[in-house]
Amino acid sequence: MSLKFATIASSSSGNSVYIGTEKTKILIDAGLSGKKIQDGLKNIGVDCKDIDAIFVTHEHIDHVKGVGVLSRRFEIPVYATSGTWMSMPESVGCIKDKNKKYVYSSKKCIINDICLCPFSIPHDANEPVGYSIYDGKRKICVATDMGHVTKEVLSSLEDSNFLLLESNHDVDMLKNGSYPYNIKQRILGKNGHLSNETAGRLAAYLIKQSRNLKGIFFGHLSMENNTPSKAYKTVENILKSENIKIGHDAIVYITPNSQVSKVVKFI
Ligand SMILES: [Zn+2]
Ligand SMILES: [Zn+2]
Repeated sequence: MSLKFATIASSSSGNSVYIGTEKTKILIDAGLSGKKIQDGLKNIGVDCKDIDAIFVTHEHIDHVKGVGVLSRRFEIPVYATSGTWMSMPESVGCIKDKNKKYVYSSKKCIINDICLCPFSIPHDANEPVGYSIYDGKRKICVATDMGHVTKEVLSSLEDSNFLLLESNHDVDMLKNGSYPYNIKQRILGKNGHLSNETAGRLAAYLIKQSRNLKGIFFGHLSMENNTPSKAYKTVENILKSENIKIGHDAIVYITPNSQVSKVVKFI
């Protein structure tokens, strides 16, 4: 069985991740317009009508903007925690009861041949989660929108084969940037977003922890307070300082903000 992974978009302006086997095709988040997600999927040879489920991490608009449109247009079931359902913005619109599904932190949820396990993440949303995804052979994790790395996050990410990690901001760019003080404090806070540096240190720990971890996508970059080269340089310096060889020990890739990433294929 082969597994494909790609980000349709990944930034503070919109997030959607595609994961698919021959039998099962899912999205994690749909934080762009329905049209953009449809076009992105088409680029990688996936028809939106074949999507079996959308799993939502939390209610922020950069994660749910297209959820309602896609669910209504293609009758796609949407999975989210009860907190996320309660706080879903009105702009998402009505989702049919039969397409409203619930996930619970640490409880596995099976869709055909893919198993997903949500884990709590520290973020200023109502019951936000990341996801560990299993296809029987591999473990992939999607972990963005975290103010810091909790024990639960760490244990959920351990022993993964592949990761999408948040690398949201460069701390100096954020501190010296144009955002109002309270927003800066929110982003830097315990329930905000991960900096390039924290993401790099987390990656170094996880690569050393498991020989099976072969690749990390760094995503959810801030359009305002980060650049792909800053994110890459910071991560590269940290990995080098830990004697980790990029490309040999693990592949490192910065996801494009608003375009489809490269497609990773696991055979
Ligand atoms: Zn976000
Ligand atoms: Zn968020």
